[in-house]
Amino acid sequence: MTAKSAAAAARPTVYGVPRQGRNRELKKAIEGYWKGRVTAEDLRRTAAELRRTNWRLLADAGIEEVPTGDFSYYDHVLDTSVMVGAVPERHRSAVEADALDGYFAMARGTQEVAPLEMTKWFDTNYHYLVPELGPDTEFAADSSKQVAEFKEAQALGHTPRPVLVGPVTYLLLSKPAPGVAPGFDPLTLLDRLLPVYAEVLADLRAAGAEWVQIDEPALVQDRTAAELNAAERTYRELGGLGDRPKLLVASYFDRLGEALPVLAKAPVEGLALDFTEAAAANLDDLASAGGLAGKRLVAGVVNGRNIWINDLGKSLSTLGTLLGLADRVDVAASCSLLHVPIDATAESDVIDAQILRWLAFARQKANEVAVLAKGLAHGTDAITAELTANRADLASRAGSAITRDPAVRARTEAVTDADRRRPQPYPERTKAQREHLGLPLLPTTTIGSFPQTTELRTARADLRKGKIDTAGYEERIKTEIQQVLSFQESVGIDVLVHGEPERNDMVQYFAEQLTGYLATQHGWVQSYGTRYVRPPILAGDISRPEPMTVPWTTYAQSLTSRPVKGMLTGPVTMLAWSFVRDDQPLGDTARQVALALRDEVQDLEAAGTSVIQVDEPALRETLPLRAAGRPAYLEWATEAFRLTTAGVRPATQIHTHMCYAEFGDIIQAIDDIDADVISLESARSHMQVARELAAHGYPREAGPGVYDIHSPRVPSADEAAALLRKGLEAIPAERLWVNPDCGLKTRGWPETRASLENLVAAARTVRAEL
Ligand code: GLN
Ligand code: ZN
Repeated sequence: MTAKSAAAAARPTVYGVPRQGRNRELKKAIEGYWKGRVTAEDLRRTAAELRRTNWRLLADAGIEEVPTGDFSYYDHVLDTSVMVGAVPERHRSAVEADALDGYFAMARGTQEVAPLEMTKWFDTNYHYLVPELGPDTEFAADSSKQVAEFKEAQALGHTPRPVLVGPVTYLLLSKPAPGVAPGFDPLTLLDRLLPVYAEVLADLRAAGAEWVQIDEPALVQDRTAAELNAAERTYRELGGLGDRPKLLVASYFDRLGEALPVLAKAPVEGLALDFTEAAAANLDDLASAGGLAGKRLVAGVVNGRNIWINDLGKSLSTLGTLLGLADRVDVAASCSLLHVPIDATAESDVIDAQILRWLAFARQKANEVAVLAKGLAHGTDAITAELTANRADLASRAGSAITRDPAVRARTEAVTDADRRRPQPYPERTKAQREHLGLPLLPTTTIGSFPQTTELRTARADLRKGKIDTAGYEERIKTEIQQVLSFQESVGIDVLVHGEPERNDMVQYFAEQLTGYLATQHGWVQSYGTRYVRPPILAGDISRPEPMTVPWTTYAQSLTSRPVKGMLTGPVTMLAWSFVRDDQPLGDTARQVALALRDEVQDLEAAGTSVIQVDEPALRETLPLRAAGRPAYLEWATEAFRLTTAGVRPATQIHTHMCYAEFGDIIQAIDDIDADVISLESARSHMQVARELAAHGYPREAGPGVYDIHSPRVPSADEAAALLRKGLEAIPAERLWVNPDCGLKTRGWPETRASLENLVAAARTVRAEL
């Protein structure tokens, strides 16, 4: 096929859309159903209506092949578990009694049974439900959801392409079911799983599907030869089936790397590859693999996970190069649009008209994909107006004072090595801190937040609605701080916190106060199930017009003679839970945020705060998917933390906190940030973290959590003491802290009170044994 005919076929498509609806109708319907206020039938009707609206939105934006099966009441990996019949034993009776209630039981648990575990979908902020498999797992195909949604779209006049989570990715994302021997490798179930996929494909074919998309994002990670071999076998077998739809194997978030030649040689009809910045190497890899002769290439050139407009000219040039490498080139967003909000035009009340033109949410991205396909098929003349407007918008963004603030630029350029290092080594600092703070051995503290009560939420809502004024709101916050302080003093905690009652969210609170950040009104993105977040947008150069936390912290300090810990969200977490800039390296954005936070750290210290905690729960989360990308990431990430904190006096104690339990990959980074004290999530993994720190030779102080705040359960003093003794086997008493494993904002007061009393009692008991 010549390049010209490949271009003539260019077809715009996407892999998935936001599920919730413009007004979060899905959330409301599902939560209503849980509360018994919405019937199953009404929920189904709402869901069908949302799918219809979404397909219409795509078609109106110019998308020709629409995805189906990407819709979900909770999560598409859970849907896949249902599709392949992988229902855990403990959920089986619920599923048999009622499919929908059983589905939600797997997602959320019930009074009697625990839900499936939830974890992050690659390096996004979406969470999926981890399939639980074992040697006894028997799969059984249930294609009903896929077939029904395909037919639904077909009946509405669309050309639907069902989207499935691929079998290799499904197995690689799963874990051994409880009770299964730990060495069990889910990939050994591949032979049992493939016939189920074959059946689903046959059912979709019978329903009339010409193409089916099979997503294999797990293949963009570093894979062993055995795993690549599993991929090879999968697509040899599925490709070898008799009457089947054409198969499009999709990858996203990173380069396919070693998996590219495997899939290129497989007997499938198409590959979808990510060609955005994060996966740019796909282009060279594809060229060196000799292209995709005889195959359809779907080129993900529009970034599906950021909110910026595409550089259409640049994408067209990438597409032009690709024309020589495949039989047919189609245009897509790089991944499902699940990761972006629905429509940027909904923000016209809160975002300046000029800036709005720089933003592309799902609807705008679908349109960009369609415009690019048109340009590819018919030449740039066919899209002159769009290209001209795009160039103007890109120029307006590049030239804007928001994008480039000379003062911020000058300051980041002037950063020296001395700014990134505390001048005194840790042994000197710890001496100064000991003298200054006078804490006992095994000091007790908390991670920062105390219960976010209904009263606090109501106060914030009242302020928003104008029912109370700022002064009235601040009065309520102050009252809360007083209570939190007097409680901590009465229990006998050593390093106190103000409780973070003024914070709606640990990122949003700071984003709202930093120049260069944008907030949206309707920019909801699914985090998990019916939980949606509205990530702020790092739009321009970041600076801090005035102190953000100092008044609250100093107010709290004025109420007590014990040290009150200042609480900040670290630069890496600020980036991880926001939409980031695409026009400069992440490290540059992190440096700007770090300098703004550094000012806050300095101001806190100047106001008399001797202990300052900079939370970095996301440090592990944003770790690049492939090992090759990790050193560069860890370098800027740890540098940003040090830039935030290194300006303080030796006697000022810098704390940090991280939540994720698997620290193995980043233990060196935890060391490199050079915090004086780190508190970590550990209660559930029985001090594993303490042992890992010790094995690494971590030289500073650490507080592996002895109270698991993720459950309302109150740990007894004996239990906490036992964990502490375990901690002492790895970390000497001079360097061990006593604390819960995360913030208490999701807990109620009664269990918080009881748990912290027990925690202090445990510290006293174990101190007496030293
Ligand atoms: N200081 C924050 C809190 O206690 C930390 C939250 C987190 O680790 N995610 O709520
Ligand atoms: Zn935490």
